[in-house]
Amino acid sequence: MIYLDNAATTKPCEECRRAVCDTMESAFGNASSLHKLGTDSLQIISRAKRTILSALSGAKTPLDGMIIFTSGATESNNTALLGAMHRFRPHAGKIVSTAIEHPSVAKTLIRFEEDGFEVLRLAPKDFEDFTGALVNAVDENTALLSAMAVNNETGFKIDVPRLYREVKRKNPKTIVHIDAVQGFLKVPLDGDLISVSGHKVHASKGIGALFIKKGQNILPIMLGGGQQGGLRSGTEPVELIAGFDAAVKAYQGDTAKFAELKAHLLDRLAELENIGINSGADCVPNIINFSVRGVRSEIMLHSLEEDGIYVSSGSACSKGKKSGVLGALGVSDKDADCAVRVSLCADNTAEELDALCEKIKRTIERVRR
Ligand code: PLP
Repeated sequence: MIYLDNAATTKPCEECRRAVCDTMESAFGNASSLHKLGTDSLQIISRAKRTILSALSGAKTPLDGMIIFTSGATESNNTALLGAMHRFRPHAGKIVSTAIEHPSVAKTLIRFEEDGFEVLRLAPKDFEDFTGALVNAVDENTALLSAMAVNNETGFKIDVPRLYREVKRKNPKTIVHIDAVQGFLKVPLDGDLISVSGHKVHASKGIGALFIKKGQNILPIMLGGGQQGGLRSGTEPVELIAGFDAAVKAYQGDTAKFAELKAHLLDRLAELENIGINSGADCVPNIINFSVRGVRSEIMLHSLEEDGIYVSSGSACSKGKKSGVLGALGVSDKDADCAVRVSLCADNTAEELDALCEKIKRTIERVRR
């Protein structure tokens, strides 16, 4: 098997699998219980929060704030947006976002629009300096800015620390939410609210986190037993949290290696005819989107699958449905129909990419015959 669909999900690493099993075996207590098994679980959760916080901060001074665990980034995004915007009701305001957001942000913003907020969605294709364009769109009425750090379909990235710094300079009251699912452990981050997901970094599905900067107060969207400071009720899945902690500590992704692999793939693709590259220099190197003109994405996907090569035709979440995201990133409709997304992890090799290109070549020949 050659797995090149790591932006959809990653294989849980051995460290994660071991931590999940060990925790299920020996630290299965309810973190709210007052006995030792409960306090052991609580300690595991506190340690994991420290790990995520320091990983979010990267090499610079630690971000000042707290982590809550969620069921994944869909919940983190919903909690961040709905939880923060409760504070602004019933006074509508302006929201600045992008035309390339994941549905968990995009659909929540539609809800705000229905409630009377004005939502401005900028498309990267319309701006040379997209980070600057987002800053420019913020004014004294902007209650919220929500933007993804790295796009899941092409790897297009924004300069998040600059965005945060400049938005705060312009309007310190604007809440900045960053969907960092594809950027976590890959690009520098900052924000008032930052969403991440475990299964994109070799932890299991069903676990995510939301960073809340000190001074920000969001209202919970999940009501119940008051766990996690009342911000996210529900018994904490301590085993998944332990696995997330272990996966983040063991994370191996390395920009230099990804850049080498991307360059190798682009060289090999250049040997083929009718290829359009949709991931330029403004994209992270671990996501490479390209169009094989004349071969529809689904045909290519299934042909590659015959040889055990797994890629994506777009984001797994859109399940083959045409999303407007590639268009907003400047890809023509025709090229979007033939788009293939290769997304890498640290285990991928140049030989695997050679096998991919060889099979693409054979598929092109078969389809054109
Ligand atoms: N945001 C982005 C950018 C994503 O790529 C995804 C998943 O693909 C999500 C949010 C949702 O994450 P989860 O699957 O953890 O709910």
